[in-house]
This record gives sequence, C-alpha cells and structure tokens, in this order.
Amino acid sequence: MKKTLLAVVAHPDDETFGMGGTLAYYANSGVDVHLICATRGEVGEVASEMLVGYKSVGDLREHELCCAADELGLKKVHFLGYRDSGMQGSPENQHKNALVQAPVNKVAREIAHLIRQIKPQVVVTFDPIGGYMHPDHISVHNATVVAFEITRDEKIETGNLHLHQPQKLYFHIFPRGFFRLVVKLMPLFGKDPSRFGKNGDINLAAIMKNDFPINAKINYRKVSDKRDRASACHASQGGDRQSGYIVTWLLRLFSSHESFMRAFPPSENRRIEKDLFAGI
Ligand SMILES: [Zn+2]
Repeated sequence: MKKTLLAVVAHPDDETFGMGGTLAYYANSGVDVHLICATRGEVGEVASEMLVGYKSVGDLREHELCCAADELGLKKVHFLGYRDSGMQGSPENQHKNALVQAPVNKVAREIAHLIRQIKPQVVVTFDPIGGYMHPDHISVHNATVVAFEITRDEKIETGNLHLHQPQKLYFHIFPRGFFRLVVKLMPLFGKDPSRFGKNGDINLAAIMKNDFPINAKINYRKVSDKRDRASACHASQGGDRQSGYIVTWLLRLFSSHESFMRAFPPSENRRIEKDLFAGI
C-alpha cells in the first residue's frame, strides 16, 4: 500500500510554520502527503496593499496555502470550510461559522470521513495546547483525536466509505528548549515574553507550563530550501518573519529538525524515532 501521510491544521501557514520541513521531507521521499485545513485564515491581519486582486483575506490566504502546498510537494489540500475564530477572547470567536463554535464530534466526523478517503497510515496534528494556545489549533487537535478513534472503531460508519485504520498519530511539538530561549532572550530585545506574537496575545510563560514528551525527530535538512520557499508563499503573514526577528533567528538554530510526540500507539520507551513510518 502506498505510504500516505495526513496533516490536520487550522489555518493557511500552520502547514509550513511548525511541520513544513517534515511534510516536504516525506513528499520528497515519495510519500503521498495530504493536508486538511479547517479554515481559510479569514481573520489574519493583512496589509491592504496585499489584498489587491483578491476578494477577501480568506481568498488571499487560500492562494498562499496553495502556493506553499506546491513548494512542499503536497498531493492535495482539503478545506473543511469553517471560519477562522481569531485569538482567544476576540469577537470573531462568536461568529456562527467560527471553528470554535462547531461541535467537536461534527468536525471529527468530517475529518474521519476524509481519513477513510485518503487512507493515511500516519496522521499528524497540533499538540493538546495547539502549539501556542490558539483556540482553533486546540479545536483541530481535539477533533483529530476523536476522528482517529472513530476511524479505528469498526462500528462507526462514515458515509459509505470502507473501513480504514490509520496506524499512528503524532502531535507536533515546539521544543521547550526553543521556547526557553525565546523567553530568556525577549527581554534583551525589550520584549515581554507574556505578550509574544504579532498581536502580543501569546503568553509564552503559560505555554511553558505544559510540557510534552518528544518521541520522534524528523531531520529535514535535505529539503530545507523547500520549506523556506513555502514560508515565502505566506507573504501576507510576513513570510518567515511573522513572529518577529528573534523567532526567525532561533528557528534557524532548530531548523533542521521538527519534533513530535507519539500519541498512538503510546510510546513505551525513551528511544526517539527518526521516521514517522517506523514499524509500518
Ligand atoms: Zn494557525
């Protein structure tokens, strides 16, 4: 059976920032890499001059995602059609189509339906705090975990599709060493680590309180140029500069590896896998 990898994310640029090296690495190795993106990033801040030629922010960011998908070598992007919920507490959270308003079981069934169509052996998504506590990332994490369980349950029907049981589920992890460095260095640049990110709404100190084991590290040095080109596609989000200069610089230090926790099957030892398909 053809090796197939499925990544489930919330917004255009999530596929590149975080796990893009891994997706490019597997696509380059001949694996079919599919992406599910729950929203079109409708709430992202975009400079007005970038919108020329596009009907909306969502339209522009969908275009940027397709550009990045081409650079990463993805087989197909599947949109779930929800609306970007914005950061926690923003009025966009209340929009009736916002991802955070959708019941987790509904989103999970949609993802499960796609899993049975795409038939991946390996599924990757955000960690339980959505990387940096973005509400949409947490929604996608929760729905993907339920979707994985649904597809492993023979009794639960998803349309008229045949049963397909993916074998492994991973969560992408930003290494805490990376965050620790950011927290230490930010004051040197006159920045407050509890007000991180383009909009100052990411509390790194709170994120650091949640630690997750790293069970797999993927070295993507061979394809780092593809990841860089995919980043450049997301020009409306500042390309690779979206979270500021320090982060870009630090990501370079960590740039040849991406880290994952293995959620299923649970990891029983401290050995770190170098391949998400190990044992398949
Ligand atoms: Zn996102």
